Amino acid sequence: MRTKCVVFTMQGKPMQIISICGEDDSSRSRCILQLNEDELNKMFMDEKIKDRVVSVISVAGAFRKGKSFLLDFFLRYMYAKYVHNNLSEKDWLGDENAPLKGFSWRGGSQRDTTGILIWSDIFLYDNPNGEKVAIILMDTQGTFDCDSTMKDCANVFALSTMISSVQIFNIQSNIQKDDLQHLQLFTEYARIAMENTGKKPFQKLQFLIRDWFHRDEAPFGALGGKQLLEQTLIRKDKRPEENEQLCENVKSSFNEIDCYLMPQPGYGIEEPDFRGCLKDLRGEFKEHLRDFIPLILAPENLIIKEINGEKLKIDHLLTYIRLYFESFNS
Ligand code: GDP
Ligand code: MG
Repeated sequence: MRTKCVVFTMQGKPMQIISICGEDDSSRSRCILQLNEDELNKMFMDEKIKDRVVSVISVAGAFRKGKSFLLDFFLRYMYAKYVHNNLSEKDWLGDENAPLKGFSWRGGSQRDTTGILIWSDIFLYDNPNGEKVAIILMDTQGTFDCDSTMKDCANVFALSTMISSVQIFNIQSNIQKDDLQHLQLFTEYARIAMENTGKKPFQKLQFLIRDWFHRDEAPFGALGGKQLLEQTLIRKDKRPEENEQLCENVKSSFNEIDCYLMPQPGYGIEEPDFRGCLKDLRGEFKEHLRDFIPLILAPENLIIKEINGEKLKIDHLLTYIRLYFESFNS
């Protein structure tokens, strides 16, 4: 059976809000972070959005692991749901033959996203309870590519964690000890930059495991993710003793932690002419996109950004971004 589908026009574009510039002096090379304050001001101070509370969804993790690729499917959901409001009639995942557009994604080994980007269209949702929400999608520089020092990686991850209400930590194959170590380091940077209020500093951490191959251990999806999380992070009797402190640190940083196990997209992605068309992706991968994305983006699952327990309006978000940014660049 052919599914009815639609290609939604996207007016927006990726906007670099924080960039990393290399600087070489004779003794060492270091990177400087730059904040694109004018653009942010223009976007956030728009009359239609400035009084809304805000939900910020960020995707972070190593580079070339499909973060931007995934975000482009997020965009298809966002336009279908929040702009065209016709999620139920059509297949929001889109046309089988439509190239995947939005945040720039690609194969190869060179990074093409540096720093932090947001989608220039900010999506609006009016909750029946009266709350007016603005939703921002955020893409980050891949951590641990060869051009960046550990400190820059930590800064970008920390900043995106501080700004977002949901941080999706995109990792390949499994949760390894070094993923937890990086997470601990990054959140430590962020903690230092924030006031210590005794509350957990961050809201939701969503592990997203790409190319999950151990189906004998846990099934794809949210249920398998829960099982993996139990084993690696939660249950003391199951997790390795050496990870004890690490796990406690990560757990104490976030209000909520979830995990989702994604199947591999199929071998079509390795073809030189692959443009991200659905027809070239495995059915199983598409099914899990349809399942996973609403878990993050459906109205009932949106998480509003809070600072010290207070819901944040978008005009205040700008003040916070500026403050955080200064604390990193000082
Ligand atoms: P980013 O650097 O993390 O933003 O990665 P990109 O989104 O630019 O994608 C890098 C490459 O990974 C592209 O060639 C995609 O086709 C491919 N890719 C996307 N999703 C997946 C996935 O789930 N598994 C694998 N193995 N590759 C993927
Ligand atoms: Mg990218």
